[in-house]
Amino acid sequence: MEARLVLLPGDGIGPEVIGAAAAVLRAVARRFGHVFHLEEYPIGGTAIEATGEPLPPDTLQACLEADAVLLGAVGDPKWDRPDLPVRPEQGLLALRKAMGVYANLRPVRVFPALVHASPLKPEIVRGTDFVVVRELTGGLYFGPRQEPREGRAYDTMVYTEAEIRRVARVAARLALKRGRHLVSVDKANVLASSRLWRQVVQQVVDEEFPQVTLEHMLVDAAAMHLLRRPTTFDVLVTANMFGDILTDEAAALAGSLGMLPSASLGETHNRHGFPRGLYEPVHGSAPDIAGQGIANPLGAILSAALLLRHSLGLEEEARAVEEAVERVLEQGYRTVDLAVEEEPVGTREMTRAVEKALTQS
Ligand code: NAD
Repeated sequence: MEARLVLLPGDGIGPEVIGAAAAVLRAVARRFGHVFHLEEYPIGGTAIEATGEPLPPDTLQACLEADAVLLGAVGDPKWDRPDLPVRPEQGLLALRKAMGVYANLRPVRVFPALVHASPLKPEIVRGTDFVVVRELTGGLYFGPRQEPREGRAYDTMVYTEAEIRRVARVAARLALKRGRHLVSVDKANVLASSRLWRQVVQQVVDEEFPQVTLEHMLVDAAAMHLLRRPTTFDVLVTANMFGDILTDEAAALAGSLGMLPSASLGETHNRHGFPRGLYEPVHGSAPDIAGQGIANPLGAILSAALLLRHSLGLEEEARAVEEAVERVLEQGYRTVDLAVEEEPVGTREMTRAVEKALTQS
């Protein structure tokens, strides 16, 4: 296969982890005989410094023409003041919107070798393997708002039937390929938008996915059950803000934020007939460790695996990457965020170990 992939390293540790993911993609291309054209463009703070804009037109154009996009992270303390007119995260929000990616898939898998890196007891966390599907372009982060003025401010959580239906379909389709168990998370006892959410998800599953078992759960209960019985979940679907919070909680289960990949999908397809996705590790730009060569690259590498699976249809290649990651963890390689008693390795050494495991499998 020939594919055009756009890389957006971004800020902080972004360039370090995207460099790692690019090396792994090149190793996949060599081993399986594909041609991947990897092109880098600026986004976020780096783009503001270079061009004055967090999402320069050239970057956007390249993303809209690519088969898939892999992003590192955006953000830096020097741009963290919310009153600044131009901020790095505006670039990411604008890109998600322009690409029309409304479903954010966040797989949470506790690798056997990392059971002891989790803050939860091994018997609770062992075997955890679920995916949160977070609605990404609607809800509280995009509704009408008023910035603080005369002692008053507000945000509004708005959902339409169409927005709920399309993300419910993505989640139910995913559940069909996995354990056929879908948990829809809302706050229907308090919020009107959640009552619509519950009604529409129920309707989609009843009418289109009768093989999927659907359970509704309040977000506060879900927050608790994810910690008490994480292995009972298969696929969860939820609104933008609930998903934002629950996925960071879920990230702690996996031992480190640095381990988690994500895929954002919409309805536009690339020339190979697959969704033109936006792939990114869940973590941020980690300015506290940027430039030190110690960032965990596995979240970005596992995001590249999701890209191979969802945007290029290369399931065997995606699995080969995931198995390579599992193998290096079994061999005892740990970056600083994962090390319990082990001597930590740097980003480069971890990446080389994954490349080696990939070529030897
Ligand atoms: P963060 O994820 O950047 O860091 C949280 C903690 O986890 C830090 O201690 C960091 O060192 C550690 N960490 C994160 N990723 C790691 C990795 N791969 N390897 C090892 N350790 C890792 O979150 P934050 O500190 O809240 O935010 C920092 C900046 O990132 C802010 O400007 C924020 O706006 C931005 N941010 C961007 C995204 C994104 O681009 N999608 C997401 C979250 C935060």
